[in-house]
Amino acid sequence: MKRLSGMLLLSLFCLVSSGASGQENVRFGEWFRDTTLRVDYLRQGCLKHDTCILQRFVLQNDSWAGSLTQLLDQIDNGEFRLLVKDAATGRDLYSRCYNTLFEEYRFTVASRERDSVATFEEVMVMPMPKRTVDVCMQKRDKQGRFFTASTFRFDPAAFRAGKALPEKKPIALLENGDPHNKIDVVIVAEGYGKKDSRKMMEDFGKFTEYLLGQEPFASRRNDFNVWGVGMLMSESGVTDPNQGRYVESAVGSSYNTFNMDRYLMTTQLFRLHNLLRGVPYDHIIIMANCDTYGGGAIYNYYAFSAVQEMSMWILPHELGHSIGGLADEYVEDDTNYNRRYVDREPVEPNITSLKNFESKWKYLVPEGTPIPTPPVEGLGRRENGPVGAYEGAGYLEKGCYRPCTKCMMRDYATFCPVCTKRLNEVFDIYIK
Ligand SMILES: [Zn+2]
Repeated sequence: MKRLSGMLLLSLFCLVSSGASGQENVRFGEWFRDTTLRVDYLRQGCLKHDTCILQRFVLQNDSWAGSLTQLLDQIDNGEFRLLVKDAATGRDLYSRCYNTLFEEYRFTVASRERDSVATFEEVMVMPMPKRTVDVCMQKRDKQGRFFTASTFRFDPAAFRAGKALPEKKPIALLENGDPHNKIDVVIVAEGYGKKDSRKMMEDFGKFTEYLLGQEPFASRRNDFNVWGVGMLMSESGVTDPNQGRYVESAVGSSYNTFNMDRYLMTTQLFRLHNLLRGVPYDHIIIMANCDTYGGGAIYNYYAFSAVQEMSMWILPHELGHSIGGLADEYVEDDTNYNRRYVDREPVEPNITSLKNFESKWKYLVPEGTPIPTPPVEGLGRRENGPVGAYEGAGYLEKGCYRPCTKCMMRDYATFCPVCTKRLNEVFDIYIK
């Protein structure tokens, strides 16, 4: 277990929450244009407080890649939510839940150094509104309910946009149809030098197959479009402070984020999304040209993986975080994290504190299975125990439970039934 947790590492958050409200359907054409608006803002804060500071609105793409029918986020995962309201009536028009690198900072660095304030770039995209809207930046209270912390007003009549020209033309790696009804994933090549153009193309091919190599992704291949975007820089590789290596790479990524060796991330979100102007995307993968084990991911933010021998396992695991909003199911006893979810039910669908197991996967547990469920010993490589509630998950050895003995979110095994179900639910939203 320790070996695996050491290998798996890091990342991500997705937190809690309560049920989504049953909103009447918002008709896309009545409220929005088929164009993507980007919101660039800074989140500044410490352990206890944070605030959002608007930087700019940007015309990101001359079309909208998301669904035209699923405008209000019904998944209700993540610690944060962007909620767009009609300014005149207050009606909810669009929402999207997500997590942030700031949240990782809060529970690592800021939890130890309480007065330490930091600022992070954040970016959200939304369809272009036809009328004046309030863009509400929400987060959760102690009970897990969203409230509005900051509001940015956007008046489309006063917005001077220009054209959403791509900085770099995207390469179509897999095209299955209209982005409105597909899961559009863009792979950003990071750390490729001028001499690496052939390797970059090969790696795009590999990462497309790793993305679609595991179930339930494999069966849903026809629901995905995949794009590649890459810039060849003057040198290869990415920054790794542990090795004294500092590189000017395309999106400024680095190992050792928050002092965790293998936590490979970038804080340059504006730069990243500038590279993606004119590209239709719902999700971002950053493919880092370096062979040191590393990666990370944040829900509806991005997924990171180094290009190395473990990538075919790292990538699906990280996509479990970034697309599925799934929690890590392993125990990490040397982590810097100051764990949060002990008092309330975690928001992630695949871990439970058993405070409200009915709200999780209890209905999938065969009758007569004890809860908590004792560990199943002697399983073969491809075997898993029955669905139950196995102690040891969400980095915690005690008080946090996972659905099965094995899972991609624990030890790179096949996604367990609970994680598979959630991924399919998320996929279904994009194809409607
Ligand atoms: Zn699982």
